[in-house]
Amino acid sequence: MYELISKWQPVILAFLAPVFTVATFFKIKKSRRGYKETIADRCLSSEREYNGLVTEEGHIYDRQLKYEKRLSETSSLYEITKEMSASLHFDDIFKILAEYLQKSFLFKRVALILVGMDETSSGEVVYETLGIQDSASKAKGVFPKLEIAGRPLDENDKKIYELLKNDIRRIQITRTEWLKSPYAQYLPEDAHTFMAVPMLFEDRLIGILSIVDLSVSDLEKFSILAAQFSLEMRRIILYEKVEQMAITDGLTKAFAKRHIMERLGEEFERSIRHDFSLAFLMVDIDHFKNYNDTYGHLVGDAVLKDIVELLKNNTREVDLVGRFGGEEFCVILPETGKDEARLVAERIREMIENHSFKAYDESTNVQVSIGVAVYPEDAGDVNEIIENSDKALYAAKNGGRNKVCVCNG
Ligand code: GH3
Ligand code: MG
Ligand code: MG
Repeated sequence: MYELISKWQPVILAFLAPVFTVATFFKIKKSRRGYKETIADRCLSSEREYNGLVTEEGHIYDRQLKYEKRLSETSSLYEITKEMSASLHFDDIFKILAEYLQKSFLFKRVALILVGMDETSSGEVVYETLGIQDSASKAKGVFPKLEIAGRPLDENDKKIYELLKNDIRRIQITRTEWLKSPYAQYLPEDAHTFMAVPMLFEDRLIGILSIVDLSVSDLEKFSILAAQFSLEMRRIILYEKVEQMAITDGLTKAFAKRHIMERLGEEFERSIRHDFSLAFLMVDIDHFKNYNDTYGHLVGDAVLKDIVELLKNNTREVDLVGRFGGEEFCVILPETGKDEARLVAERIREMIENHSFKAYDESTNVQVSIGVAVYPEDAGDVNEIIENSDKALYAAKNGGRNKVCVCNG
């Protein structure tokens, strides 16, 4: 057997060699293909990983941008809030807001309608200003002039006021859906968007902040600003109230004694400086103790209020009415000489005498006595003018009451 193999060995070898070679060749080829495929797979997964990282980085960048934007918005909000909080007037805070809106957004018009204020603030007025509508002008920094002069309410303003007064809510209308909106009639002509935000004080509508043609995506930001603005308005009203409480008498709303004394001092100095005359009237109700005893203090209080109302309504805008104490009032008449002061005092006396005071189903009458003193004839300073008007008042009382007496200093 061994011999047989040895004999055929060369033949076997000659036959097997190519078979092995071919087999080895295919094996190598196969393993190379496998290797290539593995490499390709790895490349693919690395590429996928890389793309994933790039996308992730993109997200992080976007997020960072978003945070930076929010941060800058927050800091701008902080900045305008800080700026507004230094102001004590509605037109000033509106100007700050309008300026910020002009720089930050594209819109047509922003307006603040002030309504339903009590005696502490101005009446009904609209402050409004234009915005920028094209981004090219905004980029160039060309902004419309901020003209914050108040104007009366027009028909549109009144319509919106009536709507919000009865149903306090934020209204937002866009041209694309305005047909469906119950507020369609409030969308100003040619406008694409309109937002009106009510401003409240103690649940009362005191103002409406509105904007025309702000892009839909910015409306939400505007409402955040409006909320901040509303807080600033409340701060101003509270400030005015506190200030008013300090300078006016709570019952009659005449200036309190301390304040009227300060004003008298100022008017005296002004009169001396410009060589103007100045008249001072001391007004005291006659027999008011009896009046209280007859009708009660509440009716008496109503009379005191009415008397101040009458004094204010029957004197000029520049004249000042103060409550000097109890049932005693004073009127400062700047740039007024003796003859004129006598006429004014007589007119007041007569008007009060003829007035029918109505309170708690009572219709009554009161009379007053008035003492008059004038700078420069009767007095050289504040104390002297008060003293001499008081003396004149005493003379009027002694002379029978319901009388005017002028100091003959
Ligand atoms: P005369 O004509 O001399 O001025 O007499 P009179 O009674 O007015 O003067 P008197 O000084 O004796 O009394 C002032 C009265 O004014 C007494 C007081 O009850 C009343 N009075 C003062 N302050 C108030 C107030 O805030 N409310 C009411 N209802 N009465 C007041
Ligand atoms: Mg009296
Ligand atoms: Mg008195």
